[in-house]
Amino acid sequence: MMCVLLATAIASPAAAAVRIGEAGDAVAVIVVGDVESKGSHIAAADLQDVLKRITGAEFEIVEQTDDTDARTRIFVGGGGPVRAIASDIDFDGLARDEIVMKTVGRDLVLAGGGPRGTVYAVSTFFQDVLGCRWWAPGALTAPNDPDLAVEPLDVRYRPPFELRFVLSQIGGVPEARRWHRLSYDLSFDISPRGIPSRALRPDRYYADHPEYFAYLREDGSEDREGTYLFLRKQWKHNAIHEPKPNSYNKWVEVLDRTRRAYNQFCPNSAGARRVITDAVLEELEKNRSAGALPEIVWVAQGHANFMCQCDACEAMRGREGSDSSNWIRMVNAVAAEVAPKFPTVKVGTFAFLHTEAPPATLEPADNVLIYHMLHETNRLDPVTTYPFHADAMRKWARIGTVYVWDYDANYRNYYQPYPNYFVSGQNVKYFHEVGVDGIMVQGGFGKAADLAAMRTWVTAQMMWNPKRDPRTLMIEFLNGYYGAAGPYLMEYIETMVDAAHRKKGLWLGSYAFTTKDWATVRDMNAATRLFNEAAAAVRADRILAQRVWLARKSIDLSWLDRYDEFRNAAREQGLPFLGPANPSKIVDAVAPFRTSWGHWHIGKPFSAYFDEIREKFPPQP
Ligand SMILES: [Zn+2]
Repeated sequence: MMCVLLATAIASPAAAAVRIGEAGDAVAVIVVGDVESKGSHIAAADLQDVLKRITGAEFEIVEQTDDTDARTRIFVGGGGPVRAIASDIDFDGLARDEIVMKTVGRDLVLAGGGPRGTVYAVSTFFQDVLGCRWWAPGALTAPNDPDLAVEPLDVRYRPPFELRFVLSQIGGVPEARRWHRLSYDLSFDISPRGIPSRALRPDRYYADHPEYFAYLREDGSEDREGTYLFLRKQWKHNAIHEPKPNSYNKWVEVLDRTRRAYNQFCPNSAGARRVITDAVLEELEKNRSAGALPEIVWVAQGHANFMCQCDACEAMRGREGSDSSNWIRMVNAVAAEVAPKFPTVKVGTFAFLHTEAPPATLEPADNVLIYHMLHETNRLDPVTTYPFHADAMRKWARIGTVYVWDYDANYRNYYQPYPNYFVSGQNVKYFHEVGVDGIMVQGGFGKAADLAAMRTWVTAQMMWNPKRDPRTLMIEFLNGYYGAAGPYLMEYIETMVDAAHRKKGLWLGSYAFTTKDWATVRDMNAATRLFNEAAAAVRADRILAQRVWLARKSIDLSWLDRYDEFRNAAREQGLPFLGPANPSKIVDAVAPFRTSWGHWHIGKPFSAYFDEIREKFPPQP
């Protein structure tokens, strides 16, 4: 369910341009329109910086103004004096994060709906009106214009996604969040484990109330996760190997007697539902007292990929065709008690693993939020290629409020080329088409993560306006950020994507240590030639050369990961070997960054990776 309002109109052509700079002097003043709003102050300071960058002038920021000021007044935020001046703007009617950019006589209004609209209005003004591009931290392209003036403007825009979140190294930088118009100050628990697993503690409930927990009808096998025999083996193992005293022997006895396992609960158990509901209400009450009521409270399944097989759960699943039905019924019951007491809070739950498909007829309550995780898709192509996931999303979006958790990195090695470059942008287009309400994209961490600045920029632009074309955006980024090397990098991207698609039946997961599933020595040679040309194209520019050098680390390190294998393959196939003749030199070149490049993959720093390759390729005398 989603509502988009996009209204753009240009004021009467007779109106004069609004003057901001004149021969390098400021002829405008910045007025904080909303003195109470932190966003208004932040946006005013950003505006001051960028206008100075463009005109060379110092712009004053004031909180008070009147008509005797002869300068152009740029109002940042929609409170105070601006209301009298721009009486035709319905400031109070602005939706969440909706923006207004409007010239009024000789003045300019940049404002937006709470909580971040004013910041986004200023950021959009920089990008769409002044022509600035903020590519990455420390990389701002801005025009030089000591006589800056803007043509009459009358723009009102509401971003179609209420949540726009990029979980990545760059996505976490405050400046990036403002320029990329991400939901930067939202208290959003991106990886919620939820209340059920916290409330239904086995030591408190399992022995006395096994009926609260999942019934395991089938024996399964010791190798199949979540089955009776698997858990039994695991708990018996834990009884010996976990610190003593522990309860595992007692719990094996309960498991054998009742066939109920505490790792998952029974969503049809009235007792379990009561415990969970009470815990939810208690937590929200506590949050409210602390002045920090969240927008979402999570009642989510966690990673336990199995479901209760009791009669009630089986019957429901049989009728509705999906495990999600049992969850939705339970979450709806919790939500019914939350609604009257906490009307602004949504109860969030996952569509994930066995609950990904929506129920046939049951629908989530109005205050329930579905968090659909595209965890099980092949990352090689957009979600539209995979009907099960695409259809599930379309249906969830039709019957409820849906956020999507998408994945845009290889979490076992952020430095490898990850040949899904067009997927995230195309996915955002689809999310918009079916009416998804919010997006969280989990990207890469680490300073040299594979084309991370480009990925974040393109995804952020698409989330702000999904009608744009991701490929065009990508080309704009590459030419803007890498200068004359841009076209070679685009060709490199196409080369990597083609290589992955040439590999028949490739399942591009998010957890591969190396490129062995798809990249051949021929692909690596092609990539290396392109990086050589890219480097040559920007040799004279220190900053661009440094950016290309960093991007090239994906390929340099990929050669090292499979060095002997590539050498042998080249020899066997009669191909040139364009990998580094002296791999130790590649290691030497990244040695200064051993501790400053952050992550290598989830849970491991770059230094751990560095130590591995250093051992493999020790320093040469
Ligand atoms: Zn059950």
